[in-house]
Formats: sequence, C-alpha cells, structure tokens
Amino acid sequence: MLMIRRCECCAALLGCRAAACSCCGGRELSRVPVCGRGAIVACTVVTDPSGLTGPLCAIAIVELDEGPWIYAWVEGITAGPVGPLRVRLLRDDRGADYPHFVCCAA
Ligand SMILES: [Zn+2]
Repeated sequence: MLMIRRCECCAALLGCRAAACSCCGGRELSRVPVCGRGAIVACTVVTDPSGLTGPLCAIAIVELDEGPWIYAWVEGITAGPVGPLRVRLLRDDRGADYPHFVCCAA
C-alpha cells in the first residue's frame, strides 16, 4: 500500500518523501495510506536512441487522487493521452519500496 506523509500540525497531505510540511513548516509528519490512483501532471519519456523500439519508460510527476504530487516511474506510456494511473510498489536493491504507476487500462 502506498503511504504518504500527513502533517500533524495542519493536516496537510504531503509526498512520500517529505521531510517538512510545505504549508506550515511542521516537521512532525505521520504516514497515512492512500488509494494508489493518480494522474500525470508532467512526464519525460525515455526512448531507445537507436529508434528500434518504442518508449522504454517514463518518469513523471503524478498527482495522487488525495492531492499530493509525487515523482514516480510510469509504464505503458504511448503517444496518445494517458488516462488514470494506479500504483504498484516495487522494491529496490536496498529493500525500500518505491511507487511505479501503470495506466489503468493496461
Ligand atoms: Zn503543516
């Protein structure tokens, strides 16, 4: 389950890696679960320089349904408009989970 941060002073919802509240500057942050859906605000698509294959992946700013924006990898990007996304949590080499989104239609 994707977890984000919530400010204990003003209840603002913040990105997964926030260290302080962007609204009040508070540093007392708790972790709260979110539904794991969102939409792309902006993205950069990584392509094969040889041009032999289609887009490889994309790094994007995703606006979660709950409001905060987070950076995440997105799979299934095509040339057309991108619909709603849902999260999958993947684990890196150090055992930390990170968000990876896929298009809901995929
Ligand atoms: Zn706050």
